[in-house]
Amino acid sequence: MTDVKANLETVRTKIADAARAGARPVDAVTLVAVSKTIASEGVVPTLEAGQRVFGENRVQEAGGKWPALRQDFDGIELHLIGPLQTNKVKEALSLFDVIQTVDRRKLADKLAQEGEKLGRRPKLFIQVNTGEEPQKAGISPNEVDDFVAYCRDDLGLDIVGLMCIPPVDENPAMHFALLAKIAARNGLEGLSMGMSGDYETAVRLGATHVRVGSAIFGERPPLKT
Ligand SMILES: *Cc1c(COP(=O)(O)O)cnc(C)c1O
Repeated sequence: MTDVKANLETVRTKIADAARAGARPVDAVTLVAVSKTIASEGVVPTLEAGQRVFGENRVQEAGGKWPALRQDFDGIELHLIGPLQTNKVKEALSLFDVIQTVDRRKLADKLAQEGEKLGRRPKLFIQVNTGEEPQKAGISPNEVDDFVAYCRDDLGLDIVGLMCIPPVDENPAMHFALLAKIAARNGLEGLSMGMSGDYETAVRLGATHVRVGSAIFGERPPLKT
């Protein structure tokens, strides 16, 4: 059995240590516990341990899990960390407090449109493809400035930061540093970077949000495609 409470405690301690090592205030870092593929019973122990910020990568899965958990626990903040199709925007707006994966104009347009209709103005991160990988979602580093301006100034979206998923076979530190640099020149404070394998590095390099799944909940079964 995975002891998720002990794991959560360990991750929190390591975040605090990494923050100190990076001369950063510990409370500048939000732990987003990534509960994708984990059933409600598996999530409850972390809620009981006080965790309130969670990440899911599928709209449908989140919709089947979180409305009930929100009835049992106050103060939950749910982040979408997976790709969002425009035909799921309405549902996503009703489920999520934060959407971390704004990665194209069409999606930004739809978020503005539907957000206005529903009276929802979630906090948004723009996903940046720091490794310029063709198979990966995200805005190219050299197009981020224009895209931020479009989302913020033309659409009036509440852009709070940038998010990245570095290439698996590269040192993540240079990608984290690049993301921090692009955010700084755009006046954005939020930096969502770092997962189970590299969140301590990310915290040292300025992450405001780390997205940690398997280090808390244990290894996930391999994805079926
Ligand atoms: C699954 C996922 C995570 C968490 O990954 P772990 O390695 O299990 O911590 C973080 N970010 C995104 C975008 C994910 O899809």
